[in-house]
Amino acid sequence: MPGNSLTLGIGNVTDQRGINRSFTCAGCGFAHAGVPDSDMAAAITDAGRQWQELLSTVADHPGGLDALATMTASNWSAIAHACHVRDAVAVATRRIELAVLADNPPFSPWDPQEEATQAVYVHQHPHAVADDIEASCVTLARTWQRLGAHELQRTGQLGGQSLRVAELGQRALHDARHHFVLAQAVIPAAAP
Ligand SMILES: [Zn+2]
Repeated sequence: MPGNSLTLGIGNVTDQRGINRSFTCAGCGFAHAGVPDSDMAAAITDAGRQWQELLSTVADHPGGLDALATMTASNWSAIAHACHVRDAVAVATRRIELAVLADNPPFSPWDPQEEATQAVYVHQHPHAVADDIEASCVTLARTWQRLGAHELQRTGQLGGQSLRVAELGQRALHDARHHFVLAQAVIPAAAP
């Protein structure tokens, strides 16, 4: 079962060292070179739809709201994983839009762990998060569909490393899939 250190590890991989294009995640099986850029919009849209269905189904299940809010030892509940993905995809979209407009801009740091452990995540309603996470993924997909090959190679700076627009998309999709696995692990009894 994926552990909490793995949850932290995804941030390390993406935000501090950049994407290793040959990296395959042991937690969710996502391969950063496995999704062609041409498939990214459809993939992130599908991921958002899966999240919407999971959250809606579990929230309507008896005991589902409690299951979604149950904290792990590191304060990550299923709803926290969902909120993280909603926000991570939005951060990726903003970074992509910035990198398209400006030449090699600095990206503002974002600490997923700090966000996830804030109490505000726990009190967000699953149905609202379900709709928001799907919308966040659709927004990224629409942004992605407007990008040409040149835009995918544009870069921004984060922690002294260059991140390409294409890598930002891969990172967002990995976030969506990785945390989906972790969320399902937190709520095994209520998951469909
Ligand atoms: Zn993963």
